[in-house]
Amino acid sequence: MTAEADSLYSVDRPRLTALLPDEPRYRVEQIWRGLYVEHRTPAEMTNLPLALRERLEAALPAELALARDSVSEGGMTHKYLWRLHDGATIESVLMHSPDRSTVCVSTQAGCAMACSFCATGQAGFDRHLHAGEIVAQVVEAARRAEGRRVSNVVFMGMGEPLANYDATLTAVERIHDDLGLSARHLTISTVGVLPGIRRLATERLPVTLAVSLHAADDVLRDELVPLNRRAPLAALAEACREYLAAKGRRLSFEWAMIEDVNDTDEQAELLAAYVRPLRAHVNLIPLNPTPGYPVRGSSRTRIEEFRDLLTTRGVNATIRRTRGGDIDAACGQLRMGDADRKDSSHRSWRTAGPRVLPD
Ligand code: SAH
Repeated sequence: MTAEADSLYSVDRPRLTALLPDEPRYRVEQIWRGLYVEHRTPAEMTNLPLALRERLEAALPAELALARDSVSEGGMTHKYLWRLHDGATIESVLMHSPDRSTVCVSTQAGCAMACSFCATGQAGFDRHLHAGEIVAQVVEAARRAEGRRVSNVVFMGMGEPLANYDATLTAVERIHDDLGLSARHLTISTVGVLPGIRRLATERLPVTLAVSLHAADDVLRDELVPLNRRAPLAALAEACREYLAAKGRRLSFEWAMIEDVNDTDEQAELLAAYVRPLRAHVNLIPLNPTPGYPVRGSSRTRIEEFRDLLTTRGVNATIRRTRGGDIDAACGQLRMGDADRKDSSHRSWRTAGPRVLPD
């Protein structure tokens, strides 16, 4: 593995101290506070001497350059397209609601999990993000939150967080310890990387775990979430039990509602039986359209019926409000849209297997 170059949010305090051997200790604290409490760039740290600001800028480049800011719902949802130092592009989404502001962050440029209905999965994998590139997405959103405080971070953007474990965990710790968000307001969403779930169960911070289930029998799940072929449902339930036992935090299962595929009475029955012993919550996500998956989402009526089927079987189920569909910022839509493809250097739509390509 190549060593990670220093950048603003990649360095820890000891590294920052080592980079400034001739500076008094309090300078390190001022800079740390500037970065994590005041969310300032070095140029904005006007409490520092100009020469030091310039030194910082040269030694610690910013991870993210804004390539596009798409706005919807009158500013309540923003999708940011970021360009990384090597030209790779990623997206994050900032969502405001009356009681909280949530940032949805990417952990990889692209994704190797190839879930059939997900735009990121359809476009393939470019590379892992470094911890600094994950943390910077939260800081950049906080800088743009217009007086609101970012209270929640969901690791539900591009990529599979538990396939990039170390960087994700370092980012979680930095977001908790230095940006000051509470662990239960951090949610890691996974397709079910079993070693990752087990390891997460041993970590200091009790983050919320969300598992993308989408099917409650192995034949269907093999098709929708290819990782299931290696990590089938029974083994996944076991890892979830371990997480629940270790952390005592309620898990949630995500379920994108796909017409005549996983919205049947039979799937509701199997799903209820699967989640009941885990006392988990089910989050039903209206399927967002993606070019590579020509299957329709369930109707609103069917989603409500499916929820009721779960509820009457003793399962706590809610329907996720979709945000940012008009700017391709909804779940599973990241990295699609014309402008994105034009101004990014990644190789879209290049994965193996038959795909329905956009015009
Ligand atoms: N790789 C992680 C996190 C990113 S995806 C994971 O899979 O959990 C975040 C959520 O959006 C997952 O539950 C994913 O299955 C869901 N999703 C992906 N594509 C979608 C789509 N087209 N419509 C609705 N939800 C989708």
